[in-house]
Amino acid sequence: MAQTIVVTSIPQFSHQSSIIKFSKRLIHLHNQFHVTCIFPTIDAPIPATLKLLDSLPSSITCTFLPPINKQDLPQDGPLQILLAVSQSMPAFRDSLISLRSSTRVVSIVADLLVSQALEIAKEFNLLSFIYFPLSAMVSSLHLHLLSLHEQISCEYIDHTEPILIPGCVPIRGQDLPSVFLMDRSSLVYELVLRHTKNFSLADGVLVNSFSEMEENTMRALTRNDHNNNKTQLVYLVGPILQTGLETEPKGSDCEKWLENQTQNSVLYVCFGSGGTLSQEQINELAFGLELSGVKFLWVLREPSNSKNVDYQSASNDDDNILKFLPQGFLERTKEHGLVVPFWAPQTQILSHTSIGGFLTHCGWNSILESIMLGVPTITWPLFADQRMNAILLIESLKVGLEVKFNENGIAEREEISNVIRDLMLGEKRSVIQQKIEELKDVAKGALGEDGSSTRTLSQFVTLMESHASHELIKH
Ligand code: UDP
Repeated sequence: MAQTIVVTSIPQFSHQSSIIKFSKRLIHLHNQFHVTCIFPTIDAPIPATLKLLDSLPSSITCTFLPPINKQDLPQDGPLQILLAVSQSMPAFRDSLISLRSSTRVVSIVADLLVSQALEIAKEFNLLSFIYFPLSAMVSSLHLHLLSLHEQISCEYIDHTEPILIPGCVPIRGQDLPSVFLMDRSSLVYELVLRHTKNFSLADGVLVNSFSEMEENTMRALTRNDHNNNKTQLVYLVGPILQTGLETEPKGSDCEKWLENQTQNSVLYVCFGSGGTLSQEQINELAFGLELSGVKFLWVLREPSNSKNVDYQSASNDDDNILKFLPQGFLERTKEHGLVVPFWAPQTQILSHTSIGGFLTHCGWNSILESIMLGVPTITWPLFADQRMNAILLIESLKVGLEVKFNENGIAEREEISNVIRDLMLGEKRSVIQQKIEELKDVAKGALGEDGSSTRTLSQFVTLMESHASHELIKH
C-alpha cells in the first residue's frame, strides 16, 4: 500500500498553491508517496486553485471539505479564514479517518494557520509538520511569537525599541504583520497565539525559503532558538513555486502584447491575489505610471480601503473595473501600457523577456517568482508579512527599490514615477539586475540535484520513512 501524506492549508489561494507546489516537488523527487490535500473551504473552492489541480500528477489528489457559509462568518478577512478553519476541523478529522481505512497515512503537513491538524496527527500517532509558505524571517517571527508576547506588554506598534527576532535584522513594531498582530485584544491575535502554542506539537518545520538566501535566520531556526532549544527539525525546502506556468495556456492577451515590446522595457504591476488600493491611490499610481513614461502591464482591481479583498468576490466585470481609472488614462497610455482586469498569468508574464521590473505588494510567492525569474522589484507592501518581506528585499538582499508613502499612507505620483524611472532606466538598475541574477542562480542551485533544498527534502523523507517502518514493526 502506498504511503500517503496528508497536506492541509487555509482557504486562500497563495497558501494553497504553495503547499500544492510543495507536494508536486515532493512527489517528483520521491515518487513512493501519495499526497492527499484536504482543504477547508469558504462557500466554494477557489477557482485559481481548481485550475492548478488540472496539472497535478495522479499521485496527488485533492479533497475540499464541506464549505463553511461565508454569511455565517464575520466580514473581517483574517478572522473569517481562521474561524472557517476551526469549524472545518471535525470534517477534516472524519476525512482523515476515512482515508486511513483505505491507505497508509504516514504524516500530516499543515499550514501554520491549520495547526489544529497537529493535534489530530498526535491522536493518530502520525508524524506532523508545520508548513510555512513564508520567508524564514517571517517563519522565525511566528515561531518566536510566544516569547515576544511575554517580553512585550504594549501593542507592538507602540513598542519604541526595535523588535528582535532570532536570526533577523531588528525591525520596528509597525513592520510586523498588521492583520494578525496589531491589536492584542483582538480575537485574531488570540487565535494566532493559539496556533503558535500548537507548533511545539510538530515533529518538524518546513519553510518555503532556501538557506543561502536567509543564512542567519536559517541558523537561528535550526539551533531552535524559538523553541527553548528543544529539538525540532527545520527544513528549508524552497523556493517552491510554480515554474511550469501551468495555469494559463500560451498565447494569452498579455503575452501577445509583451511580444511587441522591447527587451526589459515593461514594468509589471500587481498586488497579489487579494491586494487592493483605495481610489485615491489608484489615481496616484495611474498618474505615476503615466508620468514615468515607462511601459507597463498593470493588473487592476476594484478600489477598496481594506487593502485585502478576495479577488473572487469582486464583480468580474471588466468594463466596470476600468471606470476606476482616471478619465482619459487608457486613451493617453494606449501606446504605453496594458491594463488587465482582476487577474493575469503572473509567472508567464514575469518570465517574458520584455519584462524589466516588477512593482509588487511583496507577497512571498511573488517575491520568490521575481527571484527565480530574475526580475528586479519595486516594493509596495500592503498588509500581512509584506513589510517584513520588503525589508528582506531592500535591506538584506538589495534587489529592489522601495516606494515611499506620505504621512497619510499614500504613495504620490511623483514618488512613484521617480522610483519607476530609477529602477527601469536609472544608474542603480545594472547593480540590482546583477544581484538578482546572482540570487536566481543560487536559488536554482538550491533546487539542483545536490542543492541544499533538495538534500533537506530528502532528510524530511528519511524521517517519514523511518517513522513508517517503526510503526510497521510495532503492528
Ligand atoms: N497571481 C497571479 N495572477 C494575478 C495575481 C496573483 O498568477 O493576477 C499569483 C502569483 O503569481 C502568486 C500568487 O498569485 O503566485 C500570489 O501570492 P503572493 O504570496 O504573492 O500574494 P498573496 O496573494 O498571498 O497576497
